[in-house]
Amino acid sequence: MAVKLVIFDLDDTLIKTSAITKECYATARDYLKEKGAKESTLLHLDEKFNSPVSYHKSVKKLEEELYRDGLKKDDVYRSIDIFNAGQVSGKLEMVDGAKEVLEGLKDLRKSGKIKTVLVTSSKDAKVQNYKIKQFSLSKYFDDICIDNYQECGKGVALEKYQIDNKLQPEEVIVIGDKISDEIKYANLLGMKTVRILEGRHSVAIPKKGEEHPQIEIEKIADFLKILKERLG
Ligand SMILES: [Mg+2]
Repeated sequence: MAVKLVIFDLDDTLIKTSAITKECYATARDYLKEKGAKESTLLHLDEKFNSPVSYHKSVKKLEEELYRDGLKKDDVYRSIDIFNAGQVSGKLEMVDGAKEVLEGLKDLRKSGKIKTVLVTSSKDAKVQNYKIKQFSLSKYFDDICIDNYQECGKGVALEKYQIDNKLQPEEVIVIGDKISDEIKYANLLGMKTVRILEGRHSVAIPKKGEEHPQIEIEKIADFLKILKERLG
């Protein structure tokens, strides 16, 4: 079945987020230390964050240990705010070749062969909106969804776009860097999946069958060829 809908992830698929994420992590970690977090707790936090897991989820997993070190709930939430604030103050760059891929999709969209959607997950929509604006990405997509369902991942949003567009799952291709999120949920829904090895999640190893992408690419530039081979 020919692909009719392309769903993109944002962070570390189109925009290089990992470098800034690491800086934000260091700042938030320093803050926790200043508030009394013990070195052993911080090492556990490093482990969790580098496994890799989002800052929000990592710090929530370590909450009990942080409270034992004497930190208050407010300190933990303040560290999340510090982490998020850093994401909009750092210098962002697009992933090499991402702009060219988006430009390359323009004609396919014009001819009605495909639709494109951006689905990005964040606790803080402001951060994602800032990134989208910074690189004027709206013009490349038929719709943009800033999904806030961190616990259940992107599955709900992915399925919504499939159904709204009256498509079969095989007519949807999803490209992203996270095997534990967009790749897993798209696989479970029966969609086509492309993993891009970019950023801190590129070291993640699939644990379950559904975390295995159908295709893996090192450069996003390779995505255009993959897509064109799957068009009707
Ligand atoms: Mg991502």
